[in-house]
Amino acid sequence: MKTKILLDESRIPKQWYNIIPDMPGKLAPVIHPGTLKPVTPEDLLPIFPMPIIEQEVSPNRWIDIPDEVRNVYKLWRPSPMFRAERLEKLLGTPAKIYYKYEGVSPAGSHKPNSAIPQAYFNKIAGTKRLATETGAGQWGASLAFACQMFGLECTIYMVKVSFTQKPYRKSMMQLWGGDVIASPSNRTEAGRSILAKDPDSNGSLGIAISEAVEDAIGREDTCYALGSVLNHVCLHQTVIGLEAKEQMAIAGDYPDVVIACHGGGSNFAGMGFPFVADKIAGKNIRILAVEPTSCPTLTKGVYDFDYGDTAKMALISKMYTLGHDFMPPGIHAGGLRYHGASPLVSQLVHEGVVEARSVLQMASFEAAVQFARTEGIIPAPESSHAIRGAIDEALMAKEEGKEKVILFNLSGHGHLDMAAYDAYFAGMLEDYEYPEEAIRESLARLPKVSL
Ligand SMILES: *Cc1c(COP(=O)(O)O)cnc(C)c1O
Repeated sequence: MKTKILLDESRIPKQWYNIIPDMPGKLAPVIHPGTLKPVTPEDLLPIFPMPIIEQEVSPNRWIDIPDEVRNVYKLWRPSPMFRAERLEKLLGTPAKIYYKYEGVSPAGSHKPNSAIPQAYFNKIAGTKRLATETGAGQWGASLAFACQMFGLECTIYMVKVSFTQKPYRKSMMQLWGGDVIASPSNRTEAGRSILAKDPDSNGSLGIAISEAVEDAIGREDTCYALGSVLNHVCLHQTVIGLEAKEQMAIAGDYPDVVIACHGGGSNFAGMGFPFVADKIAGKNIRILAVEPTSCPTLTKGVYDFDYGDTAKMALISKMYTLGHDFMPPGIHAGGLRYHGASPLVSQLVHEGVVEARSVLQMASFEAAVQFARTEGIIPAPESSHAIRGAIDEALMAKEEGKEKVILFNLSGHGHLDMAAYDAYFAGMLEDYEYPEEAIRESLARLPKVSL
């Protein structure tokens, strides 16, 4: 039995899988936050370059990956798949556990899979500079790296509390040539108006999005880039699942269940969508998204139109949402603290094609420690949710005495998240229960879209 299932560089996928033509039912329109009417491609041109807008709505099942993008992907792709034999032994399960490891990218997560093509398509469309926001810094670092690969400037509005508390991710962005600005800043109208009211504001992702979008709209040479949620980001991430299918075939297995953690939905879509295609074609397979109980978008949210950001500047999409001004508790899996979800993932959950489950913070860290002590790799707090999901499936298989095949996505490593593990071992981590009241209040403020 092989521990690592590796593919040659020549096996990097030549096309991304676009799930749009295979979706059960029509897609809901995307709504302009100002007019509350469906957006047109022209509405999006000040923010995104044409090739990206085309991918966002493309009816084509397969979309070519340009050679320039595959060439950069070669720095770390194809990513390895592992058989988690030691974890299986520890659990005493008859299940076989496989995982795909996206922590081998330069930024340490799956995010460069989309940052690279986004930088490339902006470059060929004539964009000189990209503006974006980042919370804990994983997306900002990935985009700074990607811009460096294609000679673009990169400006990153980083939520001020993270800017001061997570200086190493700021250093990564600067090392890759990014211009990192603590948000709220005095560079934009949005930032200045917040600072006028509260000079000591810690910032929020919503404010940082507003600043980045304003920056992009205000300059002819600049576009905006988003690290998750949107259709084109899910599309780019499908290299994960496409490679995984080949690797499972080499291992001589096919998964009964495919699992990934869920924040905005991009790594889940990347791993899951190529298997959703099999499921729609009749395969008997489960596809499971795992999210934190403290930010339970897919399991407790409503499926309705809502703004993508707190400041109501971003597009309105039909998705599972907890309300755009819901502030999730401060769990360490910062990448999973988003109020909404990918519209594509949301629709698949709504149609019952994919499943969702939530886990508590402590349970995810317990899974992370079991994983690190058997498989060696220190997982990101976000990825630990997928590990928890896989371990629970393996324990169920044990109870049922079934030889189930489990595949999960390990979306990244936790090397810059050691403070979270410090807190865990110091007994300082707590569980945040389902914040029912806060969610109910926030859901009362959804936009009134009538089509
Ligand atoms: C950002 C991030 C996530 C969550 O984002 P998705 O878009 O839901 O994939 C998960 N894992 C890691 C390591 C991340 O950096």
